Amino acid sequence: MKILVINAGSSSLKYQLIDMETEEVLAKGLCERIGIDGHLKHSPLVGGKPVFNEDISLPTHSEAIAAVIDKLTSAEYGVVSSMSEIDAVGHRVVHGGEKFASSVRIDDAVMAAIEECTPFAPLHNPANITGINACKAVMGDVPMVAVFDTAFHQTMPDKAYMYAVPYEYYQNDGIRRYGFHGTSHRYVSSRCAELMGKPIEELKLISCHMGNGSSICAIDGGRCVDTSMGFTPLVGLPMGTRCGDLDAGVIQFLMNKYGYSIDEMLNILNKKSGVLGVSGVSSDFRDLDDAAAKGNDRARLALDMFHYWVAKVAGSYVAAMNGVDAIIFTAGVGENSKDTRAAIGGYFGYLGVTIDPVANSKRGEDVMISTPDSKVKVFVIPTNEELVIARDTRDIIS
Ligand code: AMP
Repeated sequence: MKILVINAGSSSLKYQLIDMETEEVLAKGLCERIGIDGHLKHSPLVGGKPVFNEDISLPTHSEAIAAVIDKLTSAEYGVVSSMSEIDAVGHRVVHGGEKFASSVRIDDAVMAAIEECTPFAPLHNPANITGINACKAVMGDVPMVAVFDTAFHQTMPDKAYMYAVPYEYYQNDGIRRYGFHGTSHRYVSSRCAELMGKPIEELKLISCHMGNGSSICAIDGGRCVDTSMGFTPLVGLPMGTRCGDLDAGVIQFLMNKYGYSIDEMLNILNKKSGVLGVSGVSSDFRDLDDAAAKGNDRARLALDMFHYWVAKVAGSYVAAMNGVDAIIFTAGVGENSKDTRAAIGGYFGYLGVTIDPVANSKRGEDVMISTPDSKVKVFVIPTNEELVIARDTRDIIS
C-alpha cells in the first residue's frame, strides 16, 4: 500500500509518498509560491532518479497537486507508474476543535466540520481545506483521511484545558486550551515507550517539541494530560518569533501607548517576539548560539529564557503527573542543538537526571542522552509526523 501525505499551507504544499509495507519514503517534495508564480522541488528517494527543482506555474493548489502527481508518475522523476498505485491520501489538518479526538476518513460531513473549526485557525484550516479539495479535483475518489494537530490533546481533563474566564465563553464560543503539535507529541511518546521496552500505559512522559514553534506535552499512560500551547499556538514557551505566555495587560498598555490596532499588536506578538524579539539577532537558534558565543548578551538572554521556560513548564508537568519516567527532546532545536539540551538538562538535577555528553553529541537518531544511572531518562527522538499521518490513513482505510 502506498500513501501520499499532504501538508497544505496557504501558498505551499509539502508531500511525501510512503510505501506502507516498509514505511520507506519513496519521494518527497515541496510546492512553493502557489498563487504567486510557483516552484516545485521534487526529490525521488528510490531508483536513482534525479531531483526536479524548477519554477513552474502554480496558479492554485489544484495545479500544485497535478504537478506533484505528474512528477510522482513520470518516467524521468517518478517512483510509481500511475496514479492508481496511490491507495490513499493523508492530510494534515491543523484544527479539529472538540469535534475530532482522532483521525477520520474525509467525507462531506467531515469537510463541513473542518470548515466549522476555521474560526479557531483562520490561517491554517482554509489552506488545509483547499489542499483536500485540490486532491479531490485531481485524484477523484481516492480515499482520504484527515489527521489533526489538536486531536491528541483532546484527552486533557477540563481542569487543564479551561481558562478562568466566564464559563459562557467556553460553552458558547469554544474558548479553551486546544494545544498543537499533537501528531509530533504522539509519535515521540509512543517511540519513547518502544525504546524503553515498556507499555506506554505504564509511563509518565514529558515531550518537548522545540522547533520554530515550541510546545511541551505531559503524557500520562499514553494520554495527553496537559500541553503548553493554548487556544492558539501563540502561548506557552517563548518561541522563534512568538511571545509565549504574556500578561494580557501588556497588550492593552502597548496598544494604548502606540496606537496599534489588534492586528498590528498580534503581528508583533506572532512575528517579532520570542527569541528574535529579545535578542534582536535572529529566530534561528544556530544564529543565537553563534552570537552568544561571541559575547552578545541579548542572544545569551534569549537562550537563557528559552531554557528556563522549558525547564519551568516541564517541572510543572512533573507536579501535574506526580512524577515522570522520561523526558523527550524533538524537532529542529531539540534534535540538533546539544547545547540547548545540555542547558535544559542541567535544570533536571532534582529529578536525578545527568546528561551524558558523548550520547548528547549524537545526531539524527533515537538516542538516550541521560547516563544509565539517571533516575529519569532523557531521550532525543527525531519526530516523524508524516509517518503518523500515513499510519493513521492506512489503519482507517483498511
Ligand atoms: P523546525 O520548526 O522543527 O523545523 O525547527 C527549525 C529550527 O531548528 C530552526 O529555526 C533552527 O533554529 C533550529 N535548528 C536547526 N538546526 C539546528 C542546529 N544545528 N542547532 C541549533 N538549532 C538548530
